[in-house]
Amino acid sequence: MSKFYITTPIYYVNARPHIGHAYTTIACDTVARRERMLGADTFFLTGTDEHGQKIERAAQAAGKTPLQYADEISAEFRALWKRMGISNDDFIRTTEDRHKKRVQELFRRIRDNGFIYKSTYTGQYCVSDELYVDGAQPGDPCPTCGRITETVHEENYFFKLSAFQDKLLELYANPDFIRPETRRNEVISFVRSGLRDLSISRSTFSWGIPVPDDPKHVIYVWLDALANYITAIGFGSSHAGAQEAFKKYWPADVHMIGKEIVRFHCVYWPAFLMAANLPLPKAIVAHGWLLFEESKMSKSRGNIVRTETILDVLGADALRYFLLREVVFGQDGSFSFDALVQRYNSDLANGLGNLASRTLTMINRYFKGEVPYPSHAASRRPADDAIAEQARKTIRDFGTFFDQFQFSRALEAAWALVAAVDKYIVENEPWALGEKLDEENRSRLATVLYTSAEALRIVTVLAHPVIPDATSKIWTQMGLGDIKKVDLKQLDWGQLRLGTKLGDVHPVFPRADKSAVERMQQMEEQQRVPAAEAVQGKPSQSDVNPAPAHVPASGGSGPATSADGKITIDDFAKVDLRVGVVKVAERVPKSDKLLRLEVDLGGEVRQVVAGIAEAYAPETLIGRKVVIVANLAPRKLRGLESNGMIVAASLEGGRPVLASFLEDVPPGARLK
Ligand SMILES: [Zn+2]
Repeated sequence: MSKFYITTPIYYVNARPHIGHAYTTIACDTVARRERMLGADTFFLTGTDEHGQKIERAAQAAGKTPLQYADEISAEFRALWKRMGISNDDFIRTTEDRHKKRVQELFRRIRDNGFIYKSTYTGQYCVSDELYVDGAQPGDPCPTCGRITETVHEENYFFKLSAFQDKLLELYANPDFIRPETRRNEVISFVRSGLRDLSISRSTFSWGIPVPDDPKHVIYVWLDALANYITAIGFGSSHAGAQEAFKKYWPADVHMIGKEIVRFHCVYWPAFLMAANLPLPKAIVAHGWLLFEESKMSKSRGNIVRTETILDVLGADALRYFLLREVVFGQDGSFSFDALVQRYNSDLANGLGNLASRTLTMINRYFKGEVPYPSHAASRRPADDAIAEQARKTIRDFGTFFDQFQFSRALEAAWALVAAVDKYIVENEPWALGEKLDEENRSRLATVLYTSAEALRIVTVLAHPVIPDATSKIWTQMGLGDIKKVDLKQLDWGQLRLGTKLGDVHPVFPRADKSAVERMQQMEEQQRVPAAEAVQGKPSQSDVNPAPAHVPASGGSGPATSADGKITIDDFAKVDLRVGVVKVAERVPKSDKLLRLEVDLGGEVRQVVAGIAEAYAPETLIGRKVVIVANLAPRKLRGLESNGMIVAASLEGGRPVLASFLEDVPPGARLK
């Protein structure tokens, strides 16, 4: 029996799960499900990455311990995957003991092999990316994320990454190691330009795994996180069972990742493994970003779509199908509720769903719910053979595309078969044949319905890893038992047994109407309603932000207010008020009221459009400290995106007065 080991990246607990996380997880789940149907002993791993300064700071800001903070968000990931029916075999958390001990073992092994040394580092550091920025000066932004770097002076442990340049380049000679090609080329040119040794410990904060024999230091969060791929399956354990599992499943067949973490997986990770004398993963497959109506989803833009919204309205299969069919895997893809509903209706409700219900309903009506015998050669027509031929080709093509992670092309091929069978049914008019009771017409009807049902069976099996829920239902309706037990390797035309008794037939994909889009948009809006607006929205909307206030619908999950209009401290804590410094201020063309500002929040520069032009000349604002509602959903004003709101006192008919401070305060400080 062959084995197959696939992983998602472990998700960083600085953000709640959203559709971007779901995308990677769905892709891995689909691959794992197909491998199981192909008979491989499959292990599918996911988990959460919970250490590092970013988590320590976020927890502090939320008034929690880092572990409490990590517990909550990690639990949300697990609950979501459970709700979605994700078939992972394990879920690893980097705060678990099993992981911590085994990471220390990895560190020891690399150190004992002579690839770790102690040295001093002075320079710029990006907290957000947990990365040192070579050659940057104090105040310079991080080249990766644009946030302002911090100056650090630390004695650290260093990993001799420079020793692995040639070995890594040799590794990349295998074109399958990094996919797609564009990512591979980026990595090759990065490594060719020269590798510097990598600091792999931190001593300025403590939320991490202690360095063995030197607990003042914690292990670099990326070394800690990447190691999950081996610690979860038993590396470094003294238990025989765990050692056995590690021997069986390592090396991984596929690490699936987002393109933003290619360098960590394709450069650092194989170098760590080489230094520890461990086998290397077989393939690292990077997908692109999911854009929301053309712009990247991000926490600061506030345009993140929650998976739950789609699950509530259309179900998990709709999301799975959409993401794998609509997005060319490896490239950036666009998500919108309109496109989702359109795809759902055209391919699932009107496509596969309709094919299943019309075929099975006619077998019920004309053959008392038993799969009929196709007719003898005499009444066979070329159209029947053409469907059989296309089905055989679809089985081959689907596998080929799928093995290359070209999910959209695989599904395109399967749905071309759905379309061909639809056309075949229309042209052969089984409903007309069913009205005639003579032998010849009965025999022809049997062939048409057998052909349709057999094609339906094949599409259902192929699509099962992608839309497991609906295909299981269709399978049961066809009277075929448990779809998971199908041996995909043996799949061929003509295996549908004659006389198979159908189960009850129900539509699996009810058509979605226009209101589905509105419902999803509304649910997302309610999530995004910042407490600020709900709190200060009444009685008079400040003219600082002239866009209409969004009033949360009752019964939504917006901030809860008690009967006397008072809110709890937790409600207030939802408002992220920050100190910012105005870096750029200019008038918005054709507007008397609006200024476009760029405000530095101490690590991130935001564009904010504010209605204060009548009260403040732009040049008087440069360098001024202001208070920003930092977690306000972005909105467009005169075509400009405004990310946050400036807080000002405002009187009916009067001019706004900006909130400010008497004492000095650094940008980024939170008001609470
Ligand atoms: Zn950065």
